[in-house]
Amino acid sequence: VRSKLPKVGTNIFTVMSQLAMEHGAVNLGQGFPDFEVPGRLVQALEKAMRDGHNQYAPMPGIAALRQAIAGKTERCYGYRPDADLEITVTSGASEAILDAVQAVVRPGDEVIVLDPCYDCYEPAIQLAGGVAVHVPLDPETFAPDWALVRSAITPRTRMLMTNTPHNPSGAMFSAADIDSLTQLLRGTEILLLSDEVYEHIVFDGARHESALRHPELRERAFVVSSFGKTYHCTGWKVGYCIAPPALSAEFRKVHQYNTFCTFTPAQVAFAEMIEAEPGHYEGLGAFYQDKRDRFREQLLSTRLRPLPVPGGYFQLVDYSAVSDLDDAAFCRWLTTEHGVVAIPLSPFYGAPPQGQRLARLCFAKNETTLGAAIERLRGL
Ligand code: PMP
Ligand code: GLN
Repeated sequence: VRSKLPKVGTNIFTVMSQLAMEHGAVNLGQGFPDFEVPGRLVQALEKAMRDGHNQYAPMPGIAALRQAIAGKTERCYGYRPDADLEITVTSGASEAILDAVQAVVRPGDEVIVLDPCYDCYEPAIQLAGGVAVHVPLDPETFAPDWALVRSAITPRTRMLMTNTPHNPSGAMFSAADIDSLTQLLRGTEILLLSDEVYEHIVFDGARHESALRHPELRERAFVVSSFGKTYHCTGWKVGYCIAPPALSAEFRKVHQYNTFCTFTPAQVAFAEMIEAEPGHYEGLGAFYQDKRDRFREQLLSTRLRPLPVPGGYFQLVDYSAVSDLDDAAFCRWLTTEHGVVAIPLSPFYGAPPQGQRLARLCFAKNETTLGAAIERLRGL
């Protein structure tokens, strides 16, 4: 087959989860919670199915959910998107990212991504015939160097993809980053894809700088989020995209012929949950901050050096005191010899930096799982 994606193999999350099963290892690799989803949400899902919400939903998403998302967005970011024209419910953030890119990127267009970046960005760009232009984030802080981003812009640049809070590092855009980003895009026709799936998982009183807060950004942005992260149900695959009417119209053309619509019962359940229990997403930062703090505290008894985690549910660790292996080899060795799965960072780069000795651990796990992992990591 003349592959359209010759460089793509099985992704690192699948590979490492498979390895975890084969070796009975504690899986802090693939990012998913191992605790229950809120009981109320499960009941709402069951009820939705029993009440007969089992057929196709409207293509953009059920009205009640789009209204709930509009209300939640206004409460969080002071801006109420138009539920009819600006919000589209998708089968996960992954679908939203693919749809957005397919909708606007033409063959030969360039899309700037900031490395390390989530692994679905580049294949989406390639499928559209576009070219991913990789710009490195700071290797220590994972903050963007906006002058470097600017120097990557050409007349062919169609889109910039950003992600805050960031997977894999947890770094978050500051207000100054938003200023720089705004200036960078001002007067250009470059679109923004802002991946904000960890929008509610932010720590230490920091403010999530959603592109939706900022008029100049949101007028050119596809803002993507995922209920999988917010409601501990990554397997339900429900997300959404907020974009201005003209961009949403193009986005929906792709969504309409990609999936057409998203799992109806879950849409009904999320609509009810968002309105009934705003405390759930409002408290998510505190919930995960507690996990982060305990986990980091315990990591101090190992030879892994934890990097700061401003947001998200991943902890980067520097393992250079333990091993000189490259990150892929280290993560395999950690799984097979010490029974803990971590994710190497190199798959998140166009060209991985040489000599980087970092691995990603997911702390969206119950305390027993994290405790068992720490026990093993102490043996390193
Ligand atoms: N973007 C980022 C940064 C992610 O971490 C993930 C999920 N791991 C996604 C997008 C995809 O989200 P979903 O599972 O809703 O498709
Ligand atoms: N987003 C998850 C992570 O970063 C993985 C999702 C997947 O397996 N594709 O771990």
